[in-house]
Amino acid sequence: MLCKTSDTVCIVKQEINGLMQCSNCGLLYRYPLPTRQDYQKLSNDLDYPWYKEFDLAQFDDIRFKKTNQYFQIQRRLKHVRKYKSSGNLLDVGCGLGLFVSEGAKCGFSAMGIDMSHKAVKWARETLHVDVIAGKLEEMNFHAGQFDIVTLWHVLEHMPDPLETLRYLCGIIKSNGYIFVEMPNVAAIEIKIKNFLSRYHLKRNPWGHFTMPEHLYEFTPATFKRLAALAGLKILYWTTLTRSDNPLLAFIYDKTRIGNKMLFVLARKEI
Ligand SMILES: [Zn+2]
Repeated sequence: MLCKTSDTVCIVKQEINGLMQCSNCGLLYRYPLPTRQDYQKLSNDLDYPWYKEFDLAQFDDIRFKKTNQYFQIQRRLKHVRKYKSSGNLLDVGCGLGLFVSEGAKCGFSAMGIDMSHKAVKWARETLHVDVIAGKLEEMNFHAGQFDIVTLWHVLEHMPDPLETLRYLCGIIKSNGYIFVEMPNVAAIEIKIKNFLSRYHLKRNPWGHFTMPEHLYEFTPATFKRLAALAGLKILYWTTLTRSDNPLLAFIYDKTRIGNKMLFVLARKEI
């Protein structure tokens, strides 16, 4: 996807789809990619562990505010609001619509899209947010429709991230922004786990890569290359920690060794 080389090595053999690496650009991806049906299955249930932080049948706003999920949503909004504090916002892969809901509360005209009909139904009925189920490319979004597009741990699940970013580049305004957060497989923790796996010192070798629904695993280097190919420039990037400890957050921001990375992108011609 990133380069013309077809020279790859298999990093992790797996039942469903192994993890391959391009010998030229270092991009990590699954092969074979799941079929449309398999993919639908992976993305059409409410079994994600982070959905279990609260009771879906009886959603309680006060309890939700104590979850790590809520903390992360607020952290994301804080980043977004550094660039724009109002306007049309699209959350791609919105899941239960929690980010859309919090975004709308703080002044955005926010909407979301997700592959999961179940999640979208829940979001509409419980949070009364503007969310639709379906594929991004099938929506009739028009050029320059959005001020902000966000993808929180979504791009690595998409069958063609380059096509997706190119499409999104077209539907943001010329002064719009795209926010992408995803796992960082060049994180120090992953490097240690890779080392231990390589020398058979880890109980479940390569267990940290057994997420078949992650079709791609990005490092800062491979993601930067992807963004450039999609016609986007990087305005800012950092790595994050799961914890809300300010000292840890500071260290992860300065050293960029964290497990998650956040990129703020804009169209190249600005
Ligand atoms: Zn390559």
